[in-house]
Amino acid sequence: MRGSDLFFSRRQQIIIALLVSDKSLVGLIVLFKRKKDNDPDKAPAKNVAVSNKLTKDQGLSSEFILGAIEDGVVMVGPDNIIHLFNPAAGQITGWPASDAVGLEFHSVLPLVDEHGTAIAPALHAFARALAGGKGVRDSKSLLQTRSGKLVPISLIVSPMAGSDNHAPSGVVGVFRDITTEKQEEARRSEFVSTASHEMRTPIAAIEGYLSLALNPKVAQVDPHAKSYLEKAHAATQHLGELFQDLLTSSKAEDGRIASYPTAVEVGEIVAQAAELGRFNAQKKGLQLKYQVSSNKEVAGGKVIRPLFYAFIDPNRLREVLQNLIDNAIKYTPEGSITVALTGDNSVIQIQVQDTGTGIPEEDISHLFQKFYRVDSSLTRTIGGTGLGLYISRKIVEMYNGHIWVESTLGKGSTFFINLPRLSAEQALSMQKNQANVVSPLEQH
Ligand code: ADP
Repeated sequence: MRGSDLFFSRRQQIIIALLVSDKSLVGLIVLFKRKKDNDPDKAPAKNVAVSNKLTKDQGLSSEFILGAIEDGVVMVGPDNIIHLFNPAAGQITGWPASDAVGLEFHSVLPLVDEHGTAIAPALHAFARALAGGKGVRDSKSLLQTRSGKLVPISLIVSPMAGSDNHAPSGVVGVFRDITTEKQEEARRSEFVSTASHEMRTPIAAIEGYLSLALNPKVAQVDPHAKSYLEKAHAATQHLGELFQDLLTSSKAEDGRIASYPTAVEVGEIVAQAAELGRFNAQKKGLQLKYQVSSNKEVAGGKVIRPLFYAFIDPNRLREVLQNLIDNAIKYTPEGSITVALTGDNSVIQIQVQDTGTGIPEEDISHLFQKFYRVDSSLTRTIGGTGLGLYISRKIVEMYNGHIWVESTLGKGSTFFINLPRLSAEQALSMQKNQANVVSPLEQH
């Protein structure tokens, strides 16, 4: 093979490899990869067809084809032993095929996560495909080459049908080095981050001057001009929020969200967020209720609400709650919003429930992805970026929590957040150990 080109289309990724033999072009190998369908199991099983002419005239064998493909191709048997290793696999891993074949895949293709921690043997994509008999994709892990270098890869492992159609007779893994793609992604993220950071300053200045112009103590403006200025002020505020969201989401991508966790009482933060939300809800004619439940203790006839401690940054949790409550208000034309706090010994659960539009079932699994918005006539008229829930998920996951939604179209939605709960003793000892503990009420 002398050369190859990569072509990308929106729906398919196409890879073309030129086959050159004795200085003349023998043919092309074209690999199509569907981009939308993430489930390799859904790919229709088609027989490979090679024309007799090509096989006879050019001596085209599967070995020749495997040698021409730029992706690493590795076949592993049910015994975990490598039976096939193409030249590209050798180039990416640093293992010559002659050394790799006959060895266990764990020793030739060790994977680590983004923090450099080795992936447990049972969680390795090859092991999962062998055990589950289903296709497995992994584009987060890094491959440790023979020389110890870490290479980001995109790996797809597909089972080969066994004779009884149940037990796979082995699996085939196809992988490629995605260092360049990752670098481009990092550059893009860096650009978004710098641009949004830089643009926030002039926007803050414009917003400030518009506020001054609208302040009757500072400036006299005729009523006509005032209504224009009010619109400009609202749009500038929206633009400022948009840049803030873009900045936070690019930080969330590479784990740069500022976080100063301490042992804090979540009840106070949720109550404050509900109080702030109530004002906005009432402006829209919606009722906002706040409920704390479970473990109510009665001391001297007084109900004491349970204290829910968690190890979190209160400011980050405030952002998440504000986003959920703002969304509940935004997507609820009429009815009410209920913010609830409950939990048991190990988990704190926050719920934000609304009687709004609800979310179509097919959108639910995508909702916490970046820029995802439900495509409905309502969302088209309501402004938004589709970044809020993505940022919320990143923040909740930062504290080992979990966020999800249950919804019925036309009836309403409930967003849930589960956070690991600290016992009062744990929280107290953590607070004692922290020299500069600040009450969450004082942190704004
Ligand atoms: P944004 O609201 O800026 O579009 P989010 O990430 O906060 O972005 O929300 C993503 C999408 O999820 C929204 O566009 C909306 O379609 C849907 N959504 C979020 N919260 C609710 C809710 N409470 N009720 C109905 N749909 C919602």
